[in-house]
Amino acid sequence: MSKTYKITVMPGDGIGAEVMAESIKLLDALSARLGFKFEYNEQAAGGAAIDKYNDPMPDSVIAACKLSDATLLGAMGGPKWDHHTGAMRPESGLLKIRKELGVFANLRPVSVPAALADSSPLRPEAVSGVDLLTVRELIGGIYFGKPVGNDGFEAFNTMRYTVPEIERVARVAFEWARKRRNKVTSVDKANVLDVSRLWRDTVKQLHAAEFSDVELNHLYIDNATMQVVLNPRQFDVILTSNLFGDILSDTTATLGGSLGLLPSASLGTKYGLFEPVHGSAPDIAGQGKANPVAMILSSSMMLDFLGETKAAAAIRKGYEAALAQGLRTADLWREGYKKASTSEMGRVICEETLKSL
Ligand code: NAD
Repeated sequence: MSKTYKITVMPGDGIGAEVMAESIKLLDALSARLGFKFEYNEQAAGGAAIDKYNDPMPDSVIAACKLSDATLLGAMGGPKWDHHTGAMRPESGLLKIRKELGVFANLRPVSVPAALADSSPLRPEAVSGVDLLTVRELIGGIYFGKPVGNDGFEAFNTMRYTVPEIERVARVAFEWARKRRNKVTSVDKANVLDVSRLWRDTVKQLHAAEFSDVELNHLYIDNATMQVVLNPRQFDVILTSNLFGDILSDTTATLGGSLGLLPSASLGTKYGLFEPVHGSAPDIAGQGKANPVAMILSSSMMLDFLGETKAAAAIRKGYEAALAQGLRTADLWREGYKKASTSEMGRVICEETLKSL
């Protein structure tokens, strides 16, 4: 009997549905070829869930995710729901599902294939060969810390971490470094923030106790932001907190020339949530301009998580082959390249993926 994976699919809002459709076509083509099956359970999330349930992330949707082998998410939010506040905001739904699934480590790989080196805002020789992985803490820090308040005159959030929260995400970073080039750069603001001093001390202690074979260095977030632009090739694994990781990983996203290329995997001890780094891009939604690569590569990370490593690797090859053909969606298109819509890009990646098997 062929293996069947239960996947909760949340297209979400804006371009979420467009990029998700390309991922699903590719997953179906791969499963037909490789003899496993996907059973999809589609759920509304974010703005779509506000419209349907008056709640951006109902408990029933979270329950469906917990019953699945993995969850795929497009993106949430958009101007239609911007008037909502607090727990009714689509972004609150995103924070809620991450927290409920306990996915404390957000993995954001960035590599710049040779075919994309000339799409970067940086010089091709500065970005060619970049291959870094940001491990961002996802369910703690200032996005979740209490107390929180806003009385219309004064507003505040709290950046808070405990030693176990830092240790578990640092352990993920060290373990990934061992599978890669054996180097971790931990990013904080230990010159100013107490919470960062605890972060740095904890990372150092864990390193000494369990990972002294891995090279470790520390950077302040301001310097790190500059360094990823000046010399991105120096990085292997970047370990950082929720807020700093949010900002830093969007900066690393520019290296390949578009946010539309960046996948992510959010992992805990049990569940896996796979989503592009980008948002719902309301400015281009419904126009066939969205780059489906970030969502497609997120599906590849999901296949790795499910143990379907051959299918996962085939997607990465298919994506590089589509780029090598000169195909570019609107975000990356320039004179001399073939302009592709979302679905054309998805179709060619799918063809090339199957060819590579
Ligand atoms: P965004 O990532 O949606 O868009 C930023 C810019 O990148 C836009 O110019 C957009 O057109 C472009 N872009 C993004 N993805 C692209 C793709 N796949 N192909 C081509 N171009 C792409 O960020 P934003 O504009 O700040 O936010 C829009 C909405 O998305 C907001 O409601 C925000 O809260 C939400 N958001 C959601 C998530 C998420 O669901 N994980 C993440 C970030 C933002």
